[in-house]
Amino acid sequence: MNGSLTIIGLGPGDERYLTQEAEDALATAEAVYGYRAYLDRVPARDGQSRHGSDNREEGARAKAALGHAADGAKVAVVSGGDPGVFAMAASVCEEIEAGPEAWRKLDITIVPGITAMLAVAARAGAPLGHDFCAISLSDNLKPWGLVLKRLDAAAEAGFVTALYNPVSQARPWQLVTALMRLAEHLPGSTPVIFGRAVGRSEEAVTVTTLAEASGVRADMATLVIVGSAETRVIARDGQAPLVYTPRAADTVTV
Ligand code: SAH
Repeated sequence: MNGSLTIIGLGPGDERYLTQEAEDALATAEAVYGYRAYLDRVPARDGQSRHGSDNREEGARAKAALGHAADGAKVAVVSGGDPGVFAMAASVCEEIEAGPEAWRKLDITIVPGITAMLAVAARAGAPLGHDFCAISLSDNLKPWGLVLKRLDAAAEAGFVTALYNPVSQARPWQLVTALMRLAEHLPGSTPVIFGRAVGRSEEAVTVTTLAEASGVRADMATLVIVGSAETRVIARDGQAPLVYTPRAADTVTV
């Protein structure tokens, strides 16, 4: 019998963010592969084997999971957020394309999850209410010059920009450099949202401006949304402000 590989998005936080489809897929898997921190969010089940690995071992993890599925097992790979956003689904596709013919015959299913940018946006209001893009600041898989080029293009085109992987221990300077680059195109008053560990007990959301943003601490569990020139903040007495991007692009000159 053909094995199967299901790539499952766990959402950004605790079990409230796990979809029913993801839960059903996890319940029927015989083996679960994933980065250890994500695997820890999946309750252990009798008869189900667990294969945790390091964050950076995505290719090796994908290969191991594909090999296991090709042996006829029902295998699941888990990702935080959505598995197709800077995560394991693309890694599995890369390995299938380069791998043996048998891997193309597998039954492959991708189960979507709530990606971090949507969870952070929802906490702050509606910052993604008009055109937006997402850029990973990690330069493990692309040169930093390309990140800068994309930041320029995004800001010039008027996109709201979600920044994934804003800092790493090896490269603490990336976020500040990226914010300075965006500030070359956008007013200092542009709203910026920092969402940390959204959906978990240690969640923290900070709304600031591009001029002040470099002073806000961020780590690998933080997603940063930088508004466009259109993004606005509604101040509210005694309550968190609402950040939103209007649906009509009134102030843009074409
Ligand atoms: N597949 C994931 C993204 C993986 S890249 C998704 O769809 O969300 C990892 C980056 O995602 C982190 O560096 C951070 O920028 C962001 N992230 C993941 N979970 C988060 C959370 N709960 N709160 C804020 N940002 C998060």
